[in-house]
Amino acid sequence: MQRPGTSIMRSASHTSRLVNCPACGGPSVYGPENSFRPFCCARCKSVDFGAWASEGFRVPAEAPPDDQAFGDPRLQ
Ligand SMILES: [Zn+2]
Repeated sequence: MQRPGTSIMRSASHTSRLVNCPACGGPSVYGPENSFRPFCCARCKSVDFGAWASEGFRVPAEAPPDDQAFGDPRLQ
């Protein structure tokens, strides 16, 4: 059913490129199809952010008043 060799051509016309994931050092697609860029996956993105937040760049105790604007009531 599938013709061999056709899947290789898909990446030719793409502007995406491979970068090293800042969290795990593995290959990460830096392009529109990777919403976690420059990280390779959601886990790496959250891990790196967790480390970043614990290194002294902590958010002040008082939360901004517009914090609730980001919540979607339908998701509750
Ligand atoms: Zn990674």
